[in-house]
Amino acid sequence: MNKGGHNMFKATAASPGIAIGKALVYIEEELNIEKNIIDNIVEEKEKFHKAIEVTKHQLEDVRKEALEKLGADKAAIFEAHSMVLQDPELITQVENKITDDKINAESATKDVIDGFIAIFESMDDEYMKERAADIRDVGTRILKNLMGIEIVNLANLSDEVILVAHDLTPSDTATMNKDKVLGFITNIGGRTSHTAIMARSLEVPAIVGLHDITSRIKNGDIIVFDGDEGIGYINPSEELLKEFQDKKKKFEENKRQLSLLKEKPSITLDGRRVEIAGNIGTPKDVDGVLENGGEGIGLYRTEFLYMNRNNMPTEEEQFEAYKEVLEKMQDKPVIIRTLDIGGDKELPYLDLPKEMNPFLGYRAIRICLDQPEIFRVQLRALLRASVYGNLKIMYPMISSVEEVRAANKILDEVKRELEAENIFYSKSFEVGIMIEIPAAAVIGDLLIKEVDFFSIGTNDLIQYTTAVDRMNEKISYLYQPFHPAILRMIKMVIDHAHNAGKWAGMCGEMAGDPKLAPVLLGLGLDEFSMSAGSILPARKVISQLSYEDMKDMATKALNLSTAEEVKEFVDKSTRP
Ligand code: PEP
Ligand code: MG
Repeated sequence: MNKGGHNMFKATAASPGIAIGKALVYIEEELNIEKNIIDNIVEEKEKFHKAIEVTKHQLEDVRKEALEKLGADKAAIFEAHSMVLQDPELITQVENKITDDKINAESATKDVIDGFIAIFESMDDEYMKERAADIRDVGTRILKNLMGIEIVNLANLSDEVILVAHDLTPSDTATMNKDKVLGFITNIGGRTSHTAIMARSLEVPAIVGLHDITSRIKNGDIIVFDGDEGIGYINPSEELLKEFQDKKKKFEENKRQLSLLKEKPSITLDGRRVEIAGNIGTPKDVDGVLENGGEGIGLYRTEFLYMNRNNMPTEEEQFEAYKEVLEKMQDKPVIIRTLDIGGDKELPYLDLPKEMNPFLGYRAIRICLDQPEIFRVQLRALLRASVYGNLKIMYPMISSVEEVRAANKILDEVKRELEAENIFYSKSFEVGIMIEIPAAAVIGDLLIKEVDFFSIGTNDLIQYTTAVDRMNEKISYLYQPFHPAILRMIKMVIDHAHNAGKWAGMCGEMAGDPKLAPVLLGLGLDEFSMSAGSILPARKVISQLSYEDMKDMATKALNLSTAEEVKEFVDKSTRP
């Protein structure tokens, strides 16, 4: 069999693992809607209202399911969908269309929904543009209910399948029965698209960006693919099938081997202990971190609590989310980062101005210090939750000592406020900052006097140090974690913390890269925080290294001239 033949597909590797199974081509068929003149306007309107009611109930069911399986913030997507249904503008426009044009409810609904979509799509604001997808999602539901078409429910799959789709919507991924889904392959998307992120957090293999895969595969075709390499085959030969079965066995065996490390400490051959923690976006993500033997949460990105909704989360909502994470982690350390909005993450209800350089603009701690009323609510919720576990609070995007002092001053005021109200909080939680701006790395000796720890945010630190936009694919070749400037910057930060008797961790993607672990270990990093699936491979690497050897290796690596030289040197020095 020619391996590169017409039955092969190849695109962006979005989530690791080997999938072998039958295809379920999940495409939303174009709804064929006829425009009919009707006589009974009252009856037509009733039909429309009934469909709205049915849709409301369906959405409520879907929301509950999502809440149970995926957590409050994913469920919030469906609250947003229900809001679309409650929009009086939409309801009245459809009613008026039925009355004025004397047309059937289906075509009146379609016309109005299409009009709404067009308005949202034409907006400049990216967030508002994305809302068009919500309206389309809800509109399709209403239309299907009007037409009596069954809505395929991915939560009720009876057989195991590989989902083949144009793209998967938030409602698809939020409700699908994970146990029956062996993998995803989609026409569109990149490594950071919604489908890819969901696949990784569900630990389901995925390839995205395959352009026309939905037209190449039929329901029931046998599919094999490798989510690590981004390669797969349609109806493979016996030989290829066998090859993938072997690969799958190997992958699972490797996973099984790694799982033996789940309860083990992260310790080097010569006894240096480090902490390997997980990064999370929602309380639900804690499960994956614990299943993979995470020793703590090194970064809880709280901004997801604020996104996909139309108003600020209340103190109570935040308190519940923080408490859930702390309780689930028992006494393991949990670093909760205060709001890091702006840059690539927008909040439409905050009405942030459009900026020329959003990553260098009004964001994160800058917003919190400028609008302390927002910051106070979060700090109150954090302090109240602090009695439920081992909380550490972390401020993002710190560039100066003044900012840390200003943030700590507000924190102190909030403490006094709670004391006056007789509300308890833990007296022993640590406060730290992210080091993700070069200025902060350089004045680490001054900053460490104000806080208990540092966590290095390399995603931003690399982009700011080397002036390489982390989102720009055209210059991604310049985005180099092995760049000597980055390694030297990291060394400075760790040394600043250690010289003051304090600790330094890392929560950028770099911390979870097994190729970089030896050099980070050698530079003295105390805590590594990464996505759940990377925890055990990282522990394995650490447990096979000698700290003393890695210290020598890192010292030499710091004097090499290029990223390529560093990469080769680290690789050579750690080869068994
Ligand atoms: C970072 O910048 O490295 C980081 C962890 O934060 P984020 O990716 O949320 O900007
Ligand atoms: Mg950052």
